[in-house]
Amino acid sequence: YVSITSMLLCYMIKVNEDKLFKASLSLEKKNEQLSEKINSLNQITKELTDERDFSNNIYENSNAVIVIWNKNGEILRVNRKFTEVIGYSEEETLGRNLFNFILVDEDKYKVKNYADSINSNHEITNFENEVVSKTGNVVNMIWNGTVIKNPMDGEFVITSFGIDITEQVNNERKIMKMAYFDDLTQLPNKSMMQKEIDEYISKETPFSIYFIDIDNFKRLNDVHGHEYGDKFLKMYSALLLKNLLGRKIYRWCGDEFLVIDDIAGENKNAETIDKIMEISNTPLHIDDVEFITTVTIGITKFPSDGKSYSDLLKNVEIALYMAKEKGRGQFQYYNSGLQNQIEFIDSVERALNKALENNLLALYFQPIFSLKECIAKDLEVLLRWPNNGFEDMTTLKFIRIAEKTGQILKIDKWVIENTFMIIRNELKVFNFNISINLSAQSFNSKELIDFLKLMIEKYEIDPRYIRFEVTEHSIINDVNHGIEVMKNLKAMGFKIVLDDFGTKYSSLNYLGKLPIDILKIDKSYIDDIESEKNVHKIIVEQIIELSQKIGMDTVAEGIENEGQRNILLNFGCTYGQGYYFAKPMGKEKLIELFT
Ligand code: C2E
Ligand code: CA
Ligand code: CA
Repeated sequence: YVSITSMLLCYMIKVNEDKLFKASLSLEKKNEQLSEKINSLNQITKELTDERDFSNNIYENSNAVIVIWNKNGEILRVNRKFTEVIGYSEEETLGRNLFNFILVDEDKYKVKNYADSINSNHEITNFENEVVSKTGNVVNMIWNGTVIKNPMDGEFVITSFGIDITEQVNNERKIMKMAYFDDLTQLPNKSMMQKEIDEYISKETPFSIYFIDIDNFKRLNDVHGHEYGDKFLKMYSALLLKNLLGRKIYRWCGDEFLVIDDIAGENKNAETIDKIMEISNTPLHIDDVEFITTVTIGITKFPSDGKSYSDLLKNVEIALYMAKEKGRGQFQYYNSGLQNQIEFIDSVERALNKALENNLLALYFQPIFSLKECIAKDLEVLLRWPNNGFEDMTTLKFIRIAEKTGQILKIDKWVIENTFMIIRNELKVFNFNISINLSAQSFNSKELIDFLKLMIEKYEIDPRYIRFEVTEHSIINDVNHGIEVMKNLKAMGFKIVLDDFGTKYSSLNYLGKLPIDILKIDKSYIDDIESEKNVHKIIVEQIIELSQKIGMDTVAEGIENEGQRNILLNFGCTYGQGYYFAKPMGKEKLIELFT
């Protein structure tokens, strides 16, 4: 029993030992597997941490501004670059609304609309906007971004990546400024104007173009220098901007400006013209020099006057040209008839050139009489263009055209030289004073004095018998310069006649300042001098009285009857000229009558 029990026990122990052994074997294996798993978990955790650190690193050190925000615009997270660029720290930013940083309202709406219609497929691509930094600077940004659905709460979050493109934008603006703005006046230039006119045309918006040309700017530049001219242009631009609110103003070139006004209607046109002209009525002061500037304006309208940029520009220049035809300080709306007028002027210009080349012009002489004795004392030289082939071509008409085309300089020289020639060759026997008309351009020409010196010598002329008739027109733009020229002429021995007095500016103010010898009262004052209580009559009486006081002789122009002569004589007028005494005549008739 004992041995049987022992054997059994041994056997059982053996069996259990096996089992135990086997169990311990499997436990060991499991242990191994577990530690393997732990290892791989460790590995994964490490990888994940690395990855997180890596992406955090990217996030924080990114060169892009990163903003994570939700549908309501609430900022959830920003990176360091955000603080660098926008200036606000993370604490100052988190929880605030994105819209607070956006400058332009339109951009705010865009972003809001975007957020409202969001779904997970949404992307932001190259959205440019302006952001206000903490210091108040405007930062130009370009944004890209994606939308992710948060798995925890199912809400959309938007990650926006932004790049600061302020420098680039500024450079672009600089280039744009160089291309589209005028350096001196800072006004938009021709190119900008073309761009904007093309836009108006494509949108079929009616608008008017005003082409402004400053009268006599060239003289301003010549007399006071270019620097002064530049100052003037700047000042004038500023005045245009101030007076023409709501219109667009461009510098065309030199002293030419353009205004575009998209307000249609005659009244609006008149209002704009008034506002431009208003500037001309105010004296300007630059460096202690005061002057009044007048401008000439051409106007054209879209769509009635042209359908394309080039047509409108061509037509506004035609209108300007025709406005200049009328004289300074005038304006002209474009109409299709203007083209014919321009062609007419061109043909006169060509014919006049030929007449000058071939010596086809002629000189007439009109005697000027002493009113008291009715004796011819002086002569006025008057230009004629015989057989010119034009209908009704008066001297005044072609002289006006020659003033526009610049031919007047040549014409005046021709008149002076031929008058001197006739004096030397044919009129030596008379001791008439001879009056020669001088246009404003010739009077202000730098060459005038030298030319006269040359002519005096060439024809052995005594300047004391020569008078130059100039109008107020010649001096109105710069009285001081006018006085200077007059003094120079007088220093050479010539005398000065102020012609057409009373017609345009008739300022009695400066009459005393001008070194003139004789005042010519315009025909328009003489015409109605016989009617009682006539304003002209009173004015003429006063002019004569004033002239006597300052020692000037007076000549009344266009006396056609005895009644006029008698009234003028009573007022104390010294001389008279007109059909009543004698009409202008050729030198043959003159010689016949006075010898
Ligand atoms: P102006 O200098 O005022 O010349 C006087 C004009 O009045 C002349 O016209 C003359 O013929 C005209 N006239 C004189 N008496 C009478 C009169 O009793 N009744 C009427 N109805 N007219 C009278 P004209 O010769 O046709 O000259 C017109 C203008 O052309 C001149 O006006 C002057 O401004 C300009 N002009 C004439 N010759 C020259 C010239 O050689 N050079 C320049 N630059 N201009 C000239
Ligand atoms: Ca005259
Ligand atoms: Ca006259």
